This record gives sequence, structure tokens and C-alpha cells, in this order.
Amino acid sequence: MDPIAYVNGSFVPLSEAKVSILDRGFLFADGIYEVAAVLDGKLVDSASHLARLERSVGEIGLALPESVARIEELQKELIARNQLDNGMVYLQVTRGADKSRDFPFPKGVTPTLIMFVTVKDIVNAPSAKTGIGVITVPDIRWARRDIKSVALLAQVLAKQAAAAAGAGEAWMIEDGQITEGGSSSAFILTKDDVIVTRPNSNAILPGCTRKAVVALAEERQLKVEERAFTVEEALKAKEAFITSASAFVQPVVTIDGKPVGDGRVGPMATRLREIYIDFARATAV
Ligand code: PLP
Repeated sequence: MDPIAYVNGSFVPLSEAKVSILDRGFLFADGIYEVAAVLDGKLVDSASHLARLERSVGEIGLALPESVARIEELQKELIARNQLDNGMVYLQVTRGADKSRDFPFPKGVTPTLIMFVTVKDIVNAPSAKTGIGVITVPDIRWARRDIKSVALLAQVLAKQAAAAAGAGEAWMIEDGQITEGGSSSAFILTKDDVIVTRPNSNAILPGCTRKAVVALAEERQLKVEERAFTVEEALKAKEAFITSASAFVQPVVTIDGKPVGDGRVGPMATRLREIYIDFARATAV
């Protein structure tokens, strides 16, 4: 079956889903995206993703062509039309297609809104049992990483380097400290059982999964510290893990080929993954 995509008001077969070559998302990376997980046909942590979408478009002065309530309805319809049980909904909004290719915002141009789905059994991903390796790369991104912009070339290069090294993610380093993963938030568990993750700022994307995991951990009286950490500290930690909508909580067992802790998947990452999956199931819409 040809999957169904959404393009500017219409549901169309993916193979026929097209936008103009003049689209500013294509020409300038002038756009914002979101990725929400789908579990048992329902959207995970949807309010959090839609709030971040509203914030991101606001930061670049882009008006959404539909309300967020309508966008959620469209996402649900797309899930239903694709009979999607488990996977992700990708959503992108750009400043639209304009004839001139002028840098300033064009006037009277309708933003482009597209969505499509991908199939992925996130809950049963084998890497949750084995853990993944990460490599480290310099963080060469721009200064507004809090905006979920479609300008992802730095992450493409980082994650390509990871893939070429047989690793599952790249951790990006700035001023000697880890900012985040190419498409995930970074965590460690210290020897004193403190969960450490970098605080939100312009230096990282405010991960929706990160936010939920921090709240869920604190509800269970686990110690959480929001501060930056180095690769050296991560290597000395008991455990490391990443979070993202498309992987939930994923253990990290090596950094640049060196073991974290005993080099095996730890109990905290496994526990937080279970807690997050329970939360995701219980709150999905
Ligand atoms: N950091 C970056 C750079 C990302 O691209 C992503 C997700 O794509 C994340 C963190 C994790 O965010 P979320 O948990 O909202 O998926």
C-alpha cells in the first residue's frame, strides 16, 4: 500500500506528495519540524510536541497555517488513514513558496504544511536490550538550537560519522562539554545515583522526552541535576542514556569505543525506559 501523506490541506498518496522547488524550506531551510511517536495508534506526549511547535514557529515569526488543535486532528486522521500502529508522525511547516528567492519574509505567501508517517516498533527495538555506542564530534551548529529548525546539516554530518563508525548516535561537544545527541538528549547516572542532564538553553533542543523523563524521575524521588557534563565524567559514570521521541529511553554502553561503567545496559536506563513507556501508553491521545 502506498502510504498516505498530508500536503497543504489534502491527503494524498506519498508518491504524489509534492511541494514547489521554490519552497523556502527547500531553498533556505526556513522551516520548523516536529516528530511525535505513535504507540498502539495513538500520539505520544502530543501536547508537549505541539507546544514546542508553537514556540519554534513563534521564534522565527512564522504563523501556523492551522491551529494546533486542528494539526492534532490532522495527525490523528493521518494515523488512521495509514492504519499506523507503531511509529512516528513527521510534521514540517515552512514559510512557503515564493517566486523571488528574496531573503526577507515574503508577503502574502501561505506557509507549507506537510506530514507523513513512518513505521517503527520503538518499544521492542533490539538496541534497548543491547545498548548503543556513541561517538563524539565537535558541535558545529548555530546559536539557536532551542528552535526545532529543519536546518539539520550539522546533525546529518554528525550522525553519518556515527553510522560510519558503527555507532548509534553522535554526542556533540562544545567548550569541553556535551551539548546533546544528533537527534536526542544526553544523560548520565553518576556513581552517587544522580541523573544528570544539561539544562535547557539556546545550546540544546528542549527535548519533549527529556522533559517527561526528568519529571517522571523526580516524581519517584530519584535525584536529578540539570547541569552540563564532560566526556570524562560520562566515562566515569555508572550509566549513560539518550532520550528522544523516536527511541524513548535508550542505553548508551560505549563512548568513542570506551565502556561506560561496566559497558553493559544498566538498571536505571532500563527502569526509566519502562516508566516512560508506561507514561506514554497512559497519556497517548
Ligand atoms: N536534541 C535534538 C538535537 C533532537 O533533534 C531531538 C529530536 O529530534 C532531541 C534532542 C530529542 O527531542 P524529543 O525528545 O522531543 O524527540
